[in-house]
Amino acid sequence: MGLSYCVHATAEVAAGAEIGSGTQIWNEAQVRAGARIGRDCILGKGAYVEGDVVVGDRVKLHTRVSVFAGARIGDGVFVGPHSILLNDRRPRAITPDGRLKRDADWTVSGVTVGQGAAIGGGCTILPGVTIGRHAMVGAGSVVTRDVPDHGLVYGNPARLVAYVCECGERLLPDWSCAACGRGHEPQGVLP
Ligand SMILES: [Zn+2]
Repeated sequence: MGLSYCVHATAEVAAGAEIGSGTQIWNEAQVRAGARIGRDCILGKGAYVEGDVVVGDRVKLHTRVSVFAGARIGDGVFVGPHSILLNDRRPRAITPDGRLKRDADWTVSGVTVGQGAAIGGGCTILPGVTIGRHAMVGAGSVVTRDVPDHGLVYGNPARLVAYVCECGERLLPDWSCAACGRGHEPQGVLP
């Protein structure tokens, strides 16, 4: 019986990874044992997903995205090219006495990304950060703090500049969207 998902000949999907049906895994991508990828996802060229990562359905991980252990990615999330989701708050190769650190010598602090959120290209998301549902992170940002649902952030460090609709347009002061007409409950104080 054939696979229910597509893997390019140059991609590496570990035997212990779970991949949902309809998912496409492109050239040179790597999915390690223990990772769980949902249905109808696209992993672009060179995308890297470590073990202990959970990815929802209909997620796009673009070219050369790196998702490190502990990350939890909701349904419908977009991660732009070359963005990185980190997981070690205090990275050191060695312990204070000079020994090479092993898994037991550091704590995993994975990134959480809510349903429908989008992360532009070339972003760095620091360990332990939570990005809210339908939030948007501008390209090239370094996200050091949590992002609220529907929040639009950018810069280094990324700052909240507006709130955006599910469709991606900025919300008006009454929390409606001029582009698609959708209304929203207030999410916070408009910056
Ligand atoms: Zn809208």
